[in-house]
Amino acid sequence: MSRIGVIGGSGLYQIEGIKSVKKITLATPFGKPSGQFITGKLEGREVVFLPRHDIGHRIAPSQINYRANIFGMKKLGVERIISVTACGSLKEELKPMDFVVVDQFVDRTNFARKMTFFEKGIVAHIGFAHPVCHVLTGTLYRAAMGLGLRAHERGTYINMEGPAFSTLAESNLYRSWGMDIIGMTNFAEAKLAREAEICYSTLAAITDYDCWHPDHATVTLEMVLGNLRKNIGNSKQVLLETIRNLPEKRDCPCVNALEYAIVTDKKYIPQKTKKDLKIIIGKYIK
Ligand SMILES: [Zn+2]
Repeated sequence: MSRIGVIGGSGLYQIEGIKSVKKITLATPFGKPSGQFITGKLEGREVVFLPRHDIGHRIAPSQINYRANIFGMKKLGVERIISVTACGSLKEELKPMDFVVVDQFVDRTNFARKMTFFEKGIVAHIGFAHPVCHVLTGTLYRAAMGLGLRAHERGTYINMEGPAFSTLAESNLYRSWGMDIIGMTNFAEAKLAREAEICYSTLAAITDYDCWHPDHATVTLEMVLGNLRKNIGNSKQVLLETIRNLPEKRDCPCVNALEYAIVTDKKYIPQKTKKDLKIIIGKYIK
């Protein structure tokens, strides 16, 4: 049975109701994942859950081992990942407590974080024009709307480095670029998931307006945390509904994303690389 992965962001460190829970510690060729993977059954489907900042929120966005997290998901048989994330809004009409089902990303990290599995004697250029899975995002959006939540069918997520929030000048710059929401983590996950031929989607819950907004100065930490709590409750409902409605079999381009992406002549790919990447490239390179 194919597994559905859930990556939890700020505020989402556990999911209630998972049956036959197993906690799995995994090693990967890319080092240690954020923490233990939780596997089990939810709504009759096999799920794997991982909080990206670990339980207790101990890992900063720049320090997350994104490669190990996505590789671990792949190793556990995950075919789809729903990433739940808190974000700031860059547009008036995207209000706190709204959901945005992200369809595009812009990368504004400093390139220190590793975002590819292909570096040791192997080169692959995946198509990334449409960085999320349209089947998964469609299911997420319909689930949120069906629950009567305010949701936006698409939106561009700008991924800043952090951990500090933006300056006012940066916030206004991103607005002038037409960006919709801002966060610190999802771009690397989306890219790595595509390389691993895993469907990826981001369910972004807005906690507050970024600093460009006149209301920003009057927003207290208490208000932000209150919104975060409500968002997490709503996110869990959307997750359950999405997991219920996802078709068992995948029928989307994510499944063969690597088919024409590896450009390195097979005879030059080092044995160790072949071995390390077997679960990702094994169906194309023996
Ligand atoms: Zn897909």
